[in-house]
Amino acid sequence: MDCDKFEQCGGCTYRHISYDAELKIKAEFVENAFRRIGNIDTPISPIIPSKFQSHYRNKAQYPVGKNSDGEVISGFYAKRSHRIVSKRDCDLQPEFFADIQQDILSFLRDNYISIYDEESHKGLIRHIYIRHAQITNEVMVCLVATSSNIPNIDALITLLTKKYNAIKSIVINLNKDKTNVILGRQCKTVFGADFITDIICDIKVKISPLSFYQVNRTQAEVLYNIAIEYADLKPTDTLIDLYCGTGTIGLCAASKVKNLVGVEIIEQAISDANENAKTNSIFNTEFICSDAGEAAKRLANEGKTPNVIIVDPPRKGLDLDVIDAIDKMSPSRLVMVSCNPTTAARDCKLLVEKGYEVKSITPVDMFPRTGHVEVVIMMTRCGSDKKNEG
Ligand code: SAH
Repeated sequence: MDCDKFEQCGGCTYRHISYDAELKIKAEFVENAFRRIGNIDTPISPIIPSKFQSHYRNKAQYPVGKNSDGEVISGFYAKRSHRIVSKRDCDLQPEFFADIQQDILSFLRDNYISIYDEESHKGLIRHIYIRHAQITNEVMVCLVATSSNIPNIDALITLLTKKYNAIKSIVINLNKDKTNVILGRQCKTVFGADFITDIICDIKVKISPLSFYQVNRTQAEVLYNIAIEYADLKPTDTLIDLYCGTGTIGLCAASKVKNLVGVEIIEQAISDANENAKTNSIFNTEFICSDAGEAAKRLANEGKTPNVIIVDPPRKGLDLDVIDAIDKMSPSRLVMVSCNPTTAARDCKLLVEKGYEVKSITPVDMFPRTGHVEVVIMMTRCGSDKKNEG
């Protein structure tokens, strides 16, 4: 075993078997989901392995707490629990993340800074959150705390920025709530820019603390390219990208279509998406900050008839109002990107009942060693060959 905390930590599931065996399990899992939950018998393409199985993540959120001796520790949550397994050098993150984590921990200890306690809901520091833009090598460090006033923060800023040239942004995220959700809604930048910039599929992408960005960038390019190939885009197409985050999938596809509409619920992600369009000189776009279902309903009621819709929902999948609105807009091609094959299979079944046909399914391993697997699905509207082709 290449991790001494594997048994306790809730992060990895498959460190005890080879990567080939892991891929086989993941492929079977996707197959089962589509056969049993989706009742769909479309052949499933071979799973696409991740080029990197170590250090592939560009983001870590380390909970900070105290051990039974009252020492400040940080690491990962134990399986199905909020007990912190103290750990440095996690194989999934870039190696330098652990150095930054340890430097912050030393700072917290040396300055007697209070640590948040979930039980009593008292204390200041909750999480250390680090993001890395792999292509530009820019790093963002974020401290999640119950107040934006962290004693001696200037000393920490000096320490970190002197030691790590790559740190371009230091942010305090304010989270006062009694909640499992890691990030609060407010951020205060205490050093450098409010964001870092990465490049994916030749598109420059602004990454803010609250915005979603694929954690395995290299494999995300593979994922996006499959989604775009499945969308079979034409210069006359109107493309709707639902759950668009900072607009990445749509922006990667925008040069192939007439116009692009992106929908996303997080305001900061939409403002990043608009900036991303501008920075990349992409002008055929519109980004809407809204719940996907509400926006889809509105677009459908306005009589919008996109030829192609790409959806990339969170783990819970599509709400029923999204499925109804998609049905109403009646795109000839529908591409689903999903990090949860179980809900994807359920949603595909509902879409099949609405008249869609599942043409292709490709599992993509975005998260080696963990229990998660991504899947991309291509659907077409039955009898749509002549209709809606734009
Ligand atoms: N396609 C993007 C983001 C996918 S993650 C990418 O590849 O980067 C899913 C996104 O859905 C997140 O950005 C999340 O904020 C957003 N989201 C979650 N619930 C939503 C809802 N009800 N309506 C719209 N967007 C939602």
